[in-house]
Amino acid sequence: MNTTPEANRLTITLFGKRNAGKSSLLNAIVGQDVALVSKQKGTTTDPVKKAMEFIPLGPVIFIDTAGIDDEGDLGKLRVERSKKMLMRTDFALYVMDGTDISAEDEKGAELLFKRFNIPFLRIINKMDIVDEEQINKLKERYPDAVMVSDRNFSSIIELKDEIAKRISKNMEEPSLVADLLPYGGTVVMVVPIDSEAPKGRIILPQVQCIRDCLDHGVKSYVVRDTELVKALEDLDYKVDLVITDSQAFKGVDEMVPPSIRLTSFSMIFARNKGDLSVFSDGLKAIEGLDENSKILIAESCTHNFSCEDIGRVKIPALLDKHLGKRLNYEFKMGHDFPTNHGEYDLIIHCGACMTNRKTMQSRMRLCKECGVPMTNYGVLLAYLSGILDRAMTIFIEEERTEEETA
Ligand code: SF4
Repeated sequence: MNTTPEANRLTITLFGKRNAGKSSLLNAIVGQDVALVSKQKGTTTDPVKKAMEFIPLGPVIFIDTAGIDDEGDLGKLRVERSKKMLMRTDFALYVMDGTDISAEDEKGAELLFKRFNIPFLRIINKMDIVDEEQINKLKERYPDAVMVSDRNFSSIIELKDEIAKRISKNMEEPSLVADLLPYGGTVVMVVPIDSEAPKGRIILPQVQCIRDCLDHGVKSYVVRDTELVKALEDLDYKVDLVITDSQAFKGVDEMVPPSIRLTSFSMIFARNKGDLSVFSDGLKAIEGLDENSKILIAESCTHNFSCEDIGRVKIPALLDKHLGKRLNYEFKMGHDFPTNHGEYDLIIHCGACMTNRKTMQSRMRLCKECGVPMTNYGVLLAYLSGILDRAMTIFIEEERTEEETA
């Protein structure tokens, strides 16, 4: 369980004013002293994370943040850090001190959650020191809130049940690839083992696709590109889908007969984490780019395997060659998304396998708000290789089937 990557964990973040009791509540929820607690306002400075198995939801990560009312130059930086956590939050816990509720702060938080489309639960804390009259007023004002005290074990159990109930109601993790295929269907995955392949293992997007097929009763076969033709022969060409590494797209396209559908791991992740229609729309900006255009290549992690070369070298080289111009690229790696995203003419994003869906959705939302086109590595590579239509076929067919059955 502890090896479950962060990208596959539901992110539950505690927000609230300083001294609302967020850290002691987190400690009570996870049953460990993970966050520093004191009566001093602003004890939590950097976000504190705790990964755990949260029954019945499965692997989650809790994040405790600094108070959103922090003051001073350093305080403002902490508030910014807390707000950045919104980008990756699947579900928010807004913690209020029952003895000191600010309707204005509470409204401000609600607006922020709505902006980032984050379902949230109001928690009124420190109920052990709130008098009866105030309790009745709070119940009337916040009928959907959960009232707790970290000193009252049964109120924490009730809170955990309520968190699980609200999340189960709000969330549905989409499948990666199995929803595109019949039960018992056959997938061949093409994983080139060349100098760029990490030693002794296969990369996360490939592992996750295999697991998704196993979870849903889809038969998956994994081969190198050099054995692909023989594998298809062995299977008598009874294959529902071939998924390839984007870098081998062109060669694999030539090997797989037109009757078999073909796509890439990146396209699958583009659909799962983002939105294929947004990324294909983003391609419309390409033919208008010139030497004065500002292009951002954004990656969700700083891992230097597999994607570094694609993002920093291959995509710029292919795009320059396609347009016959030397374009101007900037690069951003890791969790932070630039605040000046509105200045770019095009943002090209990686497959985001190391981050959660919410982060990608938030980045797309920010770009949409500024009218900045966005595309993704897999979609762009398919376009530049001239095989985008083929790579998209399986997703378009699936959409049509959904419309017909709706
Ligand atoms: S750069 Fe993006 S696609 Fe590549 S490993 Fe990191 S998160 Fe995954």
